[in-house]
Amino acid sequence: METTVVLLKPDCIEKNLAGEVIKRFEGLGLRIRGCKMLSASDALLTDHYSHLADKPFFPEIVAFMQSTPIIALALEGPDSINLVRENLGPTDSTIAPKGSIRGDFGSDKMRNIAHASDSNESAEAEIRRFFSASDLF
Ligand code: ADP
Repeated sequence: METTVVLLKPDCIEKNLAGEVIKRFEGLGLRIRGCKMLSASDALLTDHYSHLADKPFFPEIVAFMQSTPIIALALEGPDSINLVRENLGPTDSTIAPKGSIRGDFGSDKMRNIAHASDSNESAEAEIRRFFSASDLF
């Protein structure tokens, strides 16, 4: 069993797609261990997107991620990290296949509906970043 972290981004919230996206994950057999709506602070986003800090579009990502509250999910299931990334599709929504979440609902490279942990190490760090022990079930 693995737990992965998904962030429903502001474009997902603005398009009223949170339920649809959660339904897809539940349809994959994943169990919701945690679910939390929050406003992402500068410090949290600098930590979460530290691998992009030197990119020219970094300030744009921070502004986008702060444009509405986001929803953090902790989802559990066998091989959940890979399963969720596969169903999300690639970062660039314009090349994501139809049937994938980003292919069906995303707009571009930045407005791509959701984030998902990309490895065991990042999942563990993201669980700690977004949830306390009492938030997880
Ligand atoms: P992923 O979210 O697919 O793991 P990355 O970790 O590379 O992708 O990027 C994190 C997020 O930063 C992306 O989901 C997207 O919202 C944004 N992003 C990545 N590349 C670009 C880009 N070239 N232009 C604008 N935003 C980007």
